[in-house]
Amino acid sequence: MSAVQNPPEKMMFQLTLRRRGISDQAVLRTMEEVPRELFVEPGDREDAYRDSALGIACGQTISQPFVVAYMTEQLKLQRNHRVLEIGTGSGYQAAVLSRLSREVLTVERYRTLADAARARLETQGYDNIEVMLGDGFDLVGVTGTFDRIIVTAAMEQIPETLTDLLESDGGILIAPIGPQHGAQTLVRIVRTASGLERKDLVDVRFVPALPGIAREL
Ligand code: SAH
Repeated sequence: MSAVQNPPEKMMFQLTLRRRGISDQAVLRTMEEVPRELFVEPGDREDAYRDSALGIACGQTISQPFVVAYMTEQLKLQRNHRVLEIGTGSGYQAAVLSRLSREVLTVERYRTLADAARARLETQGYDNIEVMLGDGFDLVGVTGTFDRIIVTAAMEQIPETLTDLLESDGGILIAPIGPQHGAQTLVRIVRTASGLERKDLVDVRFVPALPGIAREL
């Protein structure tokens, strides 16, 4: 494992993020600090610092580092923020978010992934992340509002149930929107007293968001 943690790998990782336009120092530092090799499948550790998505259990993926950094940067997180993530997957994005905010609630529809991410984050000492088995289209038992919401699976449109959970005074939601197997666009919604403002950011490719808690493990 030391091979993937050596300075050249990590230096290239930072360079790639900067070259692709990530400039927020706190985001860059956080990307440097979170050990991505502990979130990928053991057989993929050598590739943990390449800028690509990798497969994880249940046919899902851990997102490409650039996309994780970009979405995090666009969220403009503050230390006191309460954050909701839909699509825990490996828990990597949640780990990044939690280092820049007060608390993160992350929701995953596969029990296997939720349990693995919870254990992984606990082992690494994260104490401000709650991993919940649930459906991002139909959140049960979630109370209060969120300063920031990030969706990491592609939705055909942004459900009102999510924008309703957004803090009304400048809350920001970022989500990949588009057909399940076609081009998707990362969309940013800002909620203000006068309504929702939408901005299309960049083209992306995410696994689809599917309704309901998965019946397979
Ligand atoms: N953020 C993750 C990558 C997410 S991949 C990481 O950092 O590793 C997208 C994840 O969203 C998958 O694990 C998938 O099972 C989950 N997902 C899809 N639809 C969902 C839904 N309706 N509710 C909750 N999670 C969902």
